[in-house]
Amino acid sequence: KLPWKNVSKSMITTGWWQNLVEADITVIGSGPGGYVAAIKAAQLGFQTVCVEKNETLGGTCLNVGCIPSKALLNNSHLYHLAHGKDFASRGIEGEFLTGLNLNLDKMMEQKSGAVKSLTTGIAHLFKQNKVVHVQGLGRITGKNQVTATKADGSTQVISTKNILIATGSEVTPFAGIEIDEDTIVSSTGALSLKKVPEKMVVIGAGVIGVELGSVWQRLGADVTAVEFLGHVGGLGIDMEISKNFQRILQKQGLKFKLNTKVTGATKRQDGKIDVSIEAAAGGKTEVVTCDVLLVCIGRRPYSQNLGLQELGIELDNRGRIPINSRFQTKIPNIHAIGDVVAGPMLAHKAEDEGIICVEGMAGGAVHIDYNCVPSVIYTHPEVAWIGKSEEQLKEEGTEFKVGKFPFAANSRAKTNADTDGLVKILSHKSTDRMLGAHILGSGAGEMINEAALAMEYGASCEDIARVCHAHPTVSEAFREANLAASFGKAINF
Ligand SMILES: Cc1cc2nc3c(=O)[nH]c(=O)nc-3n(C[C@H](O)[C@H](O)[C@H](O)COP(=O)(O)OP(=O)(O)OC[C@H]3O[C@@H](n4cnc5c(N)ncnc54)[C@H](O)[C@@H]3O)c2cc1C
Repeated sequence: KLPWKNVSKSMITTGWWQNLVEADITVIGSGPGGYVAAIKAAQLGFQTVCVEKNETLGGTCLNVGCIPSKALLNNSHLYHLAHGKDFASRGIEGEFLTGLNLNLDKMMEQKSGAVKSLTTGIAHLFKQNKVVHVQGLGRITGKNQVTATKADGSTQVISTKNILIATGSEVTPFAGIEIDEDTIVSSTGALSLKKVPEKMVVIGAGVIGVELGSVWQRLGADVTAVEFLGHVGGLGIDMEISKNFQRILQKQGLKFKLNTKVTGATKRQDGKIDVSIEAAAGGKTEVVTCDVLLVCIGRRPYSQNLGLQELGIELDNRGRIPINSRFQTKIPNIHAIGDVVAGPMLAHKAEDEGIICVEGMAGGAVHIDYNCVPSVIYTHPEVAWIGKSEEQLKEEGTEFKVGKFPFAANSRAKTNADTDGLVKILSHKSTDRMLGAHILGSGAGEMINEAALAMEYGASCEDIARVCHAHPTVSEAFREANLAASFGKAINF
């Protein structure tokens, strides 16, 4: 047993942990849930080990999720803007705008650079906080034991007081369609296509489907998204926002086939893919041909081969690990957080759970309000929401008021000539408390954090309307929508 408090940074870099036999907390998985939990645990004084099967740290989010997708979204947006239409009206003309080329390799290089610097940043943070990183496939081999199997087949056994499972999620396969990550791709393959497809079909117009569909459409592909539901943007989105969002995306060139299901796909001799679709309610089959098929029907918990069954921990009907409000499984020292448990599959939800879970292990209070977890779609314009949608409030019978403010009436949006979208605020009819915020517009993903703060503090719309907002900023539209919800009228609209 090593005296942990005497461990120095240099001992960690030289691999002293090979001899480690004991830990207070062993975290399995280094995604945003696992790595954040491990750092927090170490900061709280726990001897912490993080077991990760991949070569790089950071999980889905940093390697094949949030980070690379946002790099491509940003660069493809700039590429689209540079094409002139939007620039010419601002008086920016000239050869540069007509002689544009897409260097896809370079764009991918920038994306990979962002991923690399952030994932190696976690390794650095681990060292700084004395979190021991063990590379290997973790398996729970006892109530107080995790065994990591390394790439060379050797194993390392860790005796541990507590175990935190943060193994995340994986792409949900589509029955009958085999993903080769070349022309039939999941979100992972869609982040690294070697060339811009002429025609792309996306199965699923949820958050990831519209984000990645947007990327390739901006880079020149003809993109059609096939969606079983009757709306775009996935579950939880407010229908009024979704309709406006769909209209804007269509104006940009994205095509949608809603209320439609894919029934199969076959690869032809010439490499193209025939995708069979029909109305969701059933009917005549139609075939759509494409060069790249992106399967984006969601993600499922990564909960297999962890040794849970042997310990008597059963999964729920969706493969998630059941936990109580302190993130404990039925074995109290084994916890689980993030995508592998119930709740929205979001990086910030996983992070927050990781922090409060280890605080709970240290004896602290454990509380998270899932109603205050924001959702964002990083297209242009962005969509962001928090709390209840109009449909949800109607369904639960809550009386509410609505305040709206269009970006067309916001001074900063006007000066930027970027006026698509609106802010929609839902508040309690008698108490004025903010119940939901729904934003469609440039920077919605930043602005939603103001709503999150307000909702966490139980703010009324009047509270927000009375907070001085800098002028000119797009956030003034958020204030004005609150003014409209609280007083029935905005000032500038
Ligand atoms: C294309 C795409 C875009 C996304 N964009 C966003 C976004 O913009 N914002 C957002 O909030 N969310 C986004 N997400 C979702 C987000 O990535 C996940 O919600 C988040 O990564 C979940 O974090 P986690 O820590 O629970 O699991 P993960 O990030 O999945 O990490 C789990 C880790 O555990 C490791 N692991 C699994 N099993 C074992 C084992 N037995 N032993 C050792 N290691 C193991 C895995 O290798 C992985 O590194 C996106 C996802 C995708 C696919």
